[in-house]
Amino acid sequence: MTLKFYNTMTRKKEAFKPLRKGLVRIYSCGPTVYDYAHIGNFRAYMAADLVRRYLKYKGFRVKQVMNITDVDDKTIKGSRKEGIPLAEFTKKYEKAFFEDIDTLNIERVEKYPKATRHIKVMLALVKTLLRKGYAYKARDGVYYSISKFRDYGKLARLEKAQLKAGARVKQDLYDKEHARDFALWKLWDKEDGDVFWVEQFGKEKVKGRPGWHIECSAMSMKYLGKTFDIHTGGIDLIFPHHQNEIAQSEGATGKQFVRYWLHNEHLVIGGEKMSKSLGNFCTLRQLVDKKEKRPPKISHQLGDILDNEHESMVIRYLLLATHYRQKLNLTGTGLKHAKHALDRLREFVANARKGRDGKGVEALVKKAKADFEKSMDDDLNIPEALSVIFEFVRKANRLGAGKKALEQMLDFDKVLGLKLSKAIEWKTPEQAEPGIRKLILKREKLRKDKKFKESDKIRAGLRKKGIVLEDTKKGTGWKRIG
Ligand code: AMP
Ligand code: ZN
Repeated sequence: MTLKFYNTMTRKKEAFKPLRKGLVRIYSCGPTVYDYAHIGNFRAYMAADLVRRYLKYKGFRVKQVMNITDVDDKTIKGSRKEGIPLAEFTKKYEKAFFEDIDTLNIERVEKYPKATRHIKVMLALVKTLLRKGYAYKARDGVYYSISKFRDYGKLARLEKAQLKAGARVKQDLYDKEHARDFALWKLWDKEDGDVFWVEQFGKEKVKGRPGWHIECSAMSMKYLGKTFDIHTGGIDLIFPHHQNEIAQSEGATGKQFVRYWLHNEHLVIGGEKMSKSLGNFCTLRQLVDKKEKRPPKISHQLGDILDNEHESMVIRYLLLATHYRQKLNLTGTGLKHAKHALDRLREFVANARKGRDGKGVEALVKKAKADFEKSMDDDLNIPEALSVIFEFVRKANRLGAGKKALEQMLDFDKVLGLKLSKAIEWKTPEQAEPGIRKLILKREKLRKDKKFKESDKIRAGLRKKGIVLEDTKKGTGWKRIG
């Protein structure tokens, strides 16, 4: 079977073939570093990670670029509020972003260009668009004239009539020609403080900064070329962001910008999109560490979830297991299922390490591999691929799982990224050295007496020594990590 992706541009599943044989060039819209990313944002980065991992699994080389937006209204506002330079402010959140993607075992992409380091490329693009008549100068900046771009609205499937509705309204605030015209370059105003770049437009030298859309056009084409294979992002970016990227890039180059547009659906909570503006969000840190401060406004669903500490690979599993084009509802039950599923995979790996492949395992491995690829080739149908894996686990357990079964599972894990190779068996307290055993048993007793504060303290102490605990019906298990 050939690999197919659902292309938002055509609203169809299409066979995937990169422009250059063997190499796939991908651009993924990245974070604006003004705060910690919320878990919904990580759904988008996880989707991009799955695309990347599966292409690599299929034998492609991947060159992937993700932008870091370190200048915009929000970053400027944040740095001014804290009274520190913009670069110092954004550095903190950029660092947090990389820590978070490592926590989720999201692979680092080849390049993370920062907007503030690419002002020259952006300006060159703005000037090309002015020269070609796609852009015009207004009182407060340079704007893109959407009526000049014939295919404007094609990606978002906007009717021409919809776009015309706001035509030719001179807005006081922006002084632009069309309500949907967007800023390529914004002239300085006092809200920008000391954040500006000086540039010559015509006769004048003026202070200003780039618009958000131009950043992605300029940086993607700089590193990936005028035409590249895949562009990813959440569905909320289809319009206007990606539509504007197309208008800018294709207006400037006259060439097709992106060949396959892949968009992930949202992570929702209680049916609503998780977002900063609605206040119904939590960060990865809040999920993995109970001590992290809770968000100020909190729904009861979120409250229940944050009452527990969740292991990072359980969160990865949860974000991974729903098809990227389907909504994912974040619930406590969903997290429990994810944990249970992950435990089964880990148990399988731990047992297969000690076991022997039974008769028929070789054929089973072959079939599981073929079925897994068939599912993933179909626009990354991960729910189906996971059910193939669990069927494999069930049958291999029955036949006897050893080296061959283990190798296959670890091969699947190149795509899943659940760190299954680290899975080792849980040990009983009796198998621990006396000092550790005493602590484990003491904690068990405290838990029975419902003295959770004290029992949590022991758990945290053991974790510092590299020992993690797992409470099961059979009692407490432990293992050494790291
Ligand atoms: P932003 O920082 O808002 O530009 O978002 C960064 C990425 O996260 C974009 O690809 C968004 O589409 C995506 N995103 C934002 N909110 C969600 C959500 N609730 N679920 C899935 N993806 C999201
Ligand atoms: Zn972008």
